[in-house]
Amino acid sequence: MDAVVAACREALARPGPAIVLTGAGVSAESGVPTFRGAEGYWTIGAQEYHPEELATLVAFSQMPWEVWAWYLYRRGVCRAAAPNAGHAALVRWDAALPDRFALVTQNVDGLHRRAGSPDARLHEIHGDIDLMRCARDCTPARDPIPTAVPAIPRGGAVPEAIRAELRCPRCGAMARPHVLWFDESYDEPRYHLDTVSRLAAGAALVVIVGTSAQTSLPWHVVALAARNGAAIVDINVEPNPFGDIAARSAGAIRAPAGEVLPELVDRLA
Ligand code: NAD
Ligand code: ZN
Repeated sequence: MDAVVAACREALARPGPAIVLTGAGVSAESGVPTFRGAEGYWTIGAQEYHPEELATLVAFSQMPWEVWAWYLYRRGVCRAAAPNAGHAALVRWDAALPDRFALVTQNVDGLHRRAGSPDARLHEIHGDIDLMRCARDCTPARDPIPTAVPAIPRGGAVPEAIRAELRCPRCGAMARPHVLWFDESYDEPRYHLDTVSRLAAGAALVVIVGTSAQTSLPWHVVALAARNGAAIVDINVEPNPFGDIAARSAGAIRAPAGEVLPELVDRLA
């Protein structure tokens, strides 16, 4: 920890954004499961699906109500969870560095927002499980999932009466979860691609927390920042590809985010 704190101090003495890039690991201590392990699977009929198969436009096109059921189950889990000490520490860090802090998250659980991270500096690059949008794309606008839509128990189906609620309020087409699927591309209006790329290209520091490095924009952020000479830190309970990069830069810490982030932020503030 001492070496990482020293490297962060040195990086913060240089100009440029300080980016924190979070993944599912930052919410694990809130009880939101990551995509790894038994909780990541979902059974439809006799078939067991992995998130990489279900979180796709192809799956939604073929079996929209089954995909909606999985999302409404996970939305229930996210809404029942509360932010943890890691989320809270990032709110304190934002307040300490408001002119240069940026929080880039792959999480769709809304816990950074609920902890108090301001929207102006929060980039939800994979969307928000509490929102829906038109599946026919009549507008990029998002709407909250109506309050009448309940959580679905594990393995459950979307009740017939609820299906009418999951429609675009503008054109009446089916609505879809406002999340980036594995077979879709990042863009600026929905997922802040250009904003995040611009921040990364000028970054002084990138602190990566709880991600297994399996999606492309995080790699792009780390590559752009490294090219700018940014210090890279990785916080994760397990080894991962970003940990290897961080070990050659400002350092990797193998411990839970809810323990590491409060200490790191308090020592830097
Ligand atoms: P992932 O599930 O692939 O990896 C999670 C990572 O967190 C692993 O490397 C694991 O070792 C680490 N981890 C677990 N507990 C930790 C802890 N207490 N402290 C620090 N690290 C910990 O998740 P990902 O890399 O974010 O990517 C998966 C995709 O899944 C993303 O696209 C994301 O949108 C989606 N997802 C989101 C949520 C959420 O919103 N909370 C949950 C699951 C998946
Ligand atoms: Zn529409």
